[in-house]
Amino acid sequence: KAKEAGRNAIRFFDQAMQTTLDRRARLEAGLRHALVRDEFVLHAQPLVDRDSGLVGAELLLRWLPDGLQLVPPDDFIPLAEESGLIVPIGLWVLDQACATLRRWDDDPRLRELYLAVNVSARQFRQPDFVDQVCAALARHGADPRRLKLELTESLLLDKVDEVVFKMRALRLLGVRFSLDDFGTGYASLSYLKKFPFDQLKVDRSFVRDIMSDPDDAAIIRAIIAMGRSLRLSVVAEGVETEGQYAYLIEHGCTLFQGYMFGRPQALSQFEAMLDGCSDAQIAMPDAVIGIE
Ligand code: C2E
Ligand code: MG
Ligand code: MG
Ligand code: MG
Repeated sequence: KAKEAGRNAIRFFDQAMQTTLDRRARLEAGLRHALVRDEFVLHAQPLVDRDSGLVGAELLLRWLPDGLQLVPPDDFIPLAEESGLIVPIGLWVLDQACATLRRWDDDPRLRELYLAVNVSARQFRQPDFVDQVCAALARHGADPRRLKLELTESLLLDKVDEVVFKMRALRLLGVRFSLDDFGTGYASLSYLKKFPFDQLKVDRSFVRDIMSDPDDAAIIRAIIAMGRSLRLSVVAEGVETEGQYAYLIEHGCTLFQGYMFGRPQALSQFEAMLDGCSDAQIAMPDAVIGIE
């Protein structure tokens, strides 16, 4: 009886694993054609200051394979990284970002905003990464000072000199850097000061429970204080409630992103929303909350 149960458990496990592998294989095959089939869309999510004023947006990639449901980035970005497809995909995102910045130049409401773009470690490691960013900026005549590249902590485990060299080269142009998902990786504080970042983004897993978990609240306060003493601006991700927002403001956080201020929405929708606003309405919470 026990043996049989064991066999069944194994068969069940095999099936579950097979299903996962099948899905993966299908996604990976589809991903290979996604760029030429034009299946990627960029969404934008507002970044706001302490007065709820809009200061920028983060571009977030969406994949809509033909005939399938939208695949969330957490499902396909890791696949794209393993297969190397993240390199051409990332270049496409950069190109779109630069085109967007140039387009925003013509609109008084959008002209002052910065755009944050996620760059995967594998993409940043490409020997020609700096050239590629320069080329994208030049191709569209975009202002480098309004481009912010979000890097993750895994990159900080690379050769320090090489990473710093590339960051400096881009900073000379005016491009700025944000350390994304801060607190979830391996970056120690002593590491952080070796790299020329402008900004820290506190991962939303720390923000979620600040109102109920004293430990998370303590971590957040420590990160904000540390960011400030290193002269970095600190962005809190995943702000969903007034309570969280007030708490973060009270403890010195200066920039915010989260459903409270707007969900990621198609870039065209994001632009249209601002088009319909007067300057006074650009303060976000009362403005349209986008639907993903
Ligand atoms: P991320 O860069 O940390 O982006 C923030 C994520 O938090 C986004 O998830 C966003 O939708 C979500 N978020 C924002 N505010 C809230 C909130 O109030 N509550 C909750 N529950 N979630 C919130 P998304 O769009 O699913 O993206 C997931 C991750 O995929 C991103 O995390 C980023 O690491 C990666 N990603 C997205 N686009 C790109 C891209 O173009 N290139 C690369 N390499 N990675 C990307
Ligand atoms: Mg990000
Ligand atoms: Mg993040
Ligand atoms: Mg995050």
